[in-house]
Amino acid sequence: MAENNDLASGDDILASYHLPSPKPLWLNAVYARHIVRGNFMALSARPPTVDMGEWVAHQVVEHWRMLVTFIRLVHDKDETGHTICNGRTCPKMSAGPNHSFTWLNSRLEPVEIPAYEYLSLVQRYISTKIDDAAVFPNDPTGVSFAPYPGASSSPSSPPNSGGGSGPDWVGRRSGFPQNFLDVCQKIFRQMFRVYAHLYWSHFEDPLYHLGLEKSVNSCFSHFILTATTLDLLGPADLEPMQALVDLWAANGTFPQDSRAYGYANLRAGERLLALAGATTAV
Ligand SMILES: [Zn+2]
Repeated sequence: MAENNDLASGDDILASYHLPSPKPLWLNAVYARHIVRGNFMALSARPPTVDMGEWVAHQVVEHWRMLVTFIRLVHDKDETGHTICNGRTCPKMSAGPNHSFTWLNSRLEPVEIPAYEYLSLVQRYISTKIDDAAVFPNDPTGVSFAPYPGASSSPSSPPNSGGGSGPDWVGRRSGFPQNFLDVCQKIFRQMFRVYAHLYWSHFEDPLYHLGLEKSVNSCFSHFILTATTLDLLGPADLEPMQALVDLWAANGTFPQDSRAYGYANLRAGERLLALAGATTAV
């Protein structure tokens, strides 16, 4: 049980986030639960026999596949041509009152565009990358299931090539291009922005109304764990969703030995748990 001064400092941290009042529904611990039981880390851990490049590629494709199902709920037109996310509901690609995301125009200038348009561009950008055989080579002869020589759990520091010549990079031995990790990082950042917009603008309607809050919580918490474990998202990237990261550290969603847990302000998360009257782990 937290001490009084811990609760007070949790309030201070929460105040520094400048959250709207009342707080969004997804910061109520009762609505922040997920459907996955057992060890979340096991889902995010690379099997030792799988090459890091192939593992990162697999994570990109799997997390994108899950996220697309949520995007469609707000982006697909109904029979009258109406979309839940539109220029009136979401004039900007925002994540709450304090964050909004820009897209680069043809002159590479950052511009604010409506979230609906942003979601169209993100879907085109990511699916084009995943379908590009130069970035994601899908030739089965290029796939290697030999033990990977690197012991690091993070791809940001690729191991020295074992006897090969020239520069080394994550995925090189499986045929991925030198900029592969950069592309994957861009994709993860875009996916994060989409999740952030869905939480801030569309969690209640349609996700909660359709009973999908546990599904999206499962997908997003797994996404955060994976992206931080692979060092594709850092603490600054997580800022628009920091309070939820805090809550998931406090309620046991993020294992204590995970990077995501290390990026959390635990006292803020414990305060959110206390505010909801929930003190037990999910
Ligand atoms: Zn929207």
